[in-house]
Amino acid sequence: MVVSERAEVGVSGVESIMRILISGGAGFLSSHLTDRLLGQGHEVVGVDNFITGKRENIAHVVGNPKYKFIEADVIEPLKIDGPVDRIYHMASPASPIGYVKHQVATLKVNSQGAWNLLELSLAKKARFLMASTSECYGDPEVNPQPESYWGRVNPIGMRSMYDEAKRFSEACTMAYHRERGADTRIIRIFNTYGPRMDPHDGRVVISFIRQALHNEALTVFGDGMQTRSLCYVTDLVEGINLVMESNFNEPINLGNPSELTILDIAKEVLALIPESKSTITFHPMPPDDPKLRRPDISRAKKILNWEPKITRREGLKMMIDFYRDTLLKK
Ligand code: NAD
Ligand code: UDP
Repeated sequence: MVVSERAEVGVSGVESIMRILISGGAGFLSSHLTDRLLGQGHEVVGVDNFITGKRENIAHVVGNPKYKFIEADVIEPLKIDGPVDRIYHMASPASPIGYVKHQVATLKVNSQGAWNLLELSLAKKARFLMASTSECYGDPEVNPQPESYWGRVNPIGMRSMYDEAKRFSEACTMAYHRERGADTRIIRIFNTYGPRMDPHDGRVVISFIRQALHNEALTVFGDGMQTRSLCYVTDLVEGINLVMESNFNEPINLGNPSELTILDIAKEVLALIPESKSTITFHPMPPDDPKLRRPDISRAKKILNWEPKITRREGLKMMIDFYRDTLLKK
């Protein structure tokens, strides 16, 4: 049943069945979020223009009576019939290769796209969640990064079409919340990995796994001493869902605080693919590549009682198994 009243998860934890819109629904994270929400019994409407997403990410839910897909660009106002209780704004190119290839589209989906969906949230009386990013912190001077840190971002750099647009999207979300009374949430997602990442979008974990499975050299940029903190996708998606159902309007970091160097990620991937003949090679560091990245998740722990559960070894093994099946058996 789809409720016409706005559904709420109160302190009692009583949950109604909701109709939930996910922009960027055919993307990596959204496909897992879709699985979680359908698993909870909700109806999901996915919207995507396939600029970086893939039909195969949602092939397993197409045909499910509780799932509907709309091919559309959320830069344009979205017409949607019937009630909507929740809007997750997940649409945006997300990899450095993706957002540099689609610079203007990235700026637009995080500005005009956020704007359109905030208007839709007011019209439908739906709660709105903005998927922002740790890139808001830029190349940080503090480690780990708490939400109170304002960041160090190059406004015209080779990441600016992404990090400045996400910063704008947060400002836009807060303005709609403060001035128009929109019911909003903001998450800052740190590097997340898992099945259904695009093998060719250049992000580090999937690149190393693809290279190792194909016996190609692993391409470490710079000296590999820059750090990242990797969260397995199902942990992250649980956190996203908990933020949406919380009562907190300001940004919440979501990620795994276990930090390591890129060179160590390469070594861990090779250790988990012992048959690989790959070596490690070093390449120039891309411009404005943050040297450190580690979430301070105290806020998420306190407000959501959330922290990641999957160890990197477990997560990498599950991801490698998925790509052994999908990459090597094609
Ligand atoms: P993804 O590229 O797999 O998914 C993004 C989806 O959005 C794609 O399916 C794409 O086609 C769609 N899209 C882009 N512009 C659109 C538009 N104008 N209209 C409709 N659909 C559009 O990336 P992802 O890793 O799943 O990221 C999802 C969201 O999470 C993004 O907003 C990203 O910025 C954010 N995020 C992800 C990470 C991560 O580590 N995966 C980290 C920080 C933030
Ligand atoms: N990286 C790398 N080799 C690759 C891809 C990425 O050394 O083939 C590095 C990249 O320079 C960065 C880190 O890995 O320091 C994470 O890159 P990714 O594109 O996954 O995400 P982001 O830089 O946005 O955190």
